[in-house]
Amino acid sequence: MPAPADIALIDGSVYTLDPARAWVEAVAIRGGRIVGTGSTADIRDLCSTATEVIDLRGRMVVPGFQDSHVHPPMGGVEMLRCDLSGGHSRQDYLETVGAYAASLPDVEWILGGGWSMPAFPGGVPTAADLDAVVGARPVFLPNRDHHSAWVSTRALELAGITAATPDPVDGRIERDAAGQPTGALHEGAMSLVERLLPPLRTEDYVQGLLAAQAYLHSLGITAWQDAWVTSSPGQNSFEAYMQLAGDARLTARVVAALWWERGRGAEQVDGFSALRARAAEADRFAATSVKIMQDGVCETFTAAMLTPYLDAHGHSTDNCGLSFVDPESLREHVTLLDAEGFQVHVHAIGDRAVREALDAVESARAANGPSGLRHHVAHLQVVHLDDVERFAGLGVVANFQPLWACGDEQMMELTVPFLGPERSALQYPIGSLQSRSVPIAFGSDWPVSTPNPFAEMHVAVTRVAPAGARFGADPGSVDEAPFLPDERIDLASAVRAFTLGSAYVNHLEAETGSIEPGKRADLAVIDRNLFEVDELDGGVAAAQVIVTMVEGEVVFERAGS
Ligand SMILES: [Zn+2]
Repeated sequence: MPAPADIALIDGSVYTLDPARAWVEAVAIRGGRIVGTGSTADIRDLCSTATEVIDLRGRMVVPGFQDSHVHPPMGGVEMLRCDLSGGHSRQDYLETVGAYAASLPDVEWILGGGWSMPAFPGGVPTAADLDAVVGARPVFLPNRDHHSAWVSTRALELAGITAATPDPVDGRIERDAAGQPTGALHEGAMSLVERLLPPLRTEDYVQGLLAAQAYLHSLGITAWQDAWVTSSPGQNSFEAYMQLAGDARLTARVVAALWWERGRGAEQVDGFSALRARAAEADRFAATSVKIMQDGVCETFTAAMLTPYLDAHGHSTDNCGLSFVDPESLREHVTLLDAEGFQVHVHAIGDRAVREALDAVESARAANGPSGLRHHVAHLQVVHLDDVERFAGLGVVANFQPLWACGDEQMMELTVPFLGPERSALQYPIGSLQSRSVPIAFGSDWPVSTPNPFAEMHVAVTRVAPAGARFGADPGSVDEAPFLPDERIDLASAVRAFTLGSAYVNHLEAETGSIEPGKRADLAVIDRNLFEVDELDGGVAAAQVIVTMVEGEVVFERAGS
């Protein structure tokens, strides 16, 4: 007779992702691991009077979700600052900024972020609007995707940005017809102001991470890959993770993707190795990935494209966007990182950036042979048909942020007109890559967009934005039809991408990602069966998490449930 279970979950609909038995009624947990799955009667046999028995009352249980591309320190810090992510219009934002500024009269800089471009004419906010609510105080507010910042006139003055300031090579200052800066900074231009900000202390990151972790657990997320971990003074999210891991406050499993500074080269790899060695001592934390940002975003014409963007009249321009790392150097860096045993996590949005990322992995394969490191390319907005065929052969994981794969305003107004019909039809090819046996992982890119896996899976299966996920005042312009419906995937595949798929990227699939005896008891109880949802009731996107467990320990419980 084996030792009895500590915890038994009974009378539920447990979706295991175990190929041997996809659905069971009950799960037994001992010492933080799953020790049995089966019928309620089977699991009762593993219980003693000391076992804590939780009656699921028919509710669905899934493996804990894993977010393969997320920025919790940044998201958490922003949650605790001037948080614009709940707003939907210019007016909402200005009210929030004004109230926040008034609440902190003695703080010099107004910081926070989370605005969305479609809330502004042409996607561009102005300093004049901010000045009207904060007066002469400096303001720096990145948007949701962190590729642009909204700044006040005082911030422009402090940074010395005038009509005479040239655009930096990796960015753009938004200007009026006379060349005067108007209050939006894109990509590398953001750093003209960012370098003036008071540095974040490690303690700020610790508090931000705790807030983020609690929020992500409330959405059933038990593990993630942090797509931007730095260890520089004033930006030390690495140390914050180490502190939380050191005193057992890290309740999620985290793989850090260490930030590749694109102004530097191979000399930074020794530093990465030192961080990896330190993290290897920590519980639930590893620093085995390196993040390289290869381009910007389509909406600001900074994503790297194989052919030029169109202008507002549909005419070709001379702008093909930006490759942040020149492709030859990218090949060298990826080959070196691969040889050193680091996974590479590339941000690539435009078709040229995707191709450059695949070329770099191809170079690494040629130089180093197979590595098993599971390099991944995140975002994958525009993928040339030739490159769709290359992922599987190179063993590259497709890391999608499925929430973006719909015809919302950002897509229909700020992207499609400037890509033109042919390239617009190559966006977010989740179905095409899956059908070519490419491993798929899902992530949110929070705080860029919601980290709610149900909203993200909803779009993956419907290619339509969930209700309430839209921004701006002109819903008439939103395409309600499925966006490139051939790229839809089924719900089972979407759940897999958020569990086993992301666990694969994080090299955690032997321990997590499914509900099978021997694995860690990381799981979520949800309020409805995702496979039996009512579209009129909000569909998959409306699901809510009731309880989240990590190693059998409750890390989130919905009040009143
Ligand atoms: Zn990101």
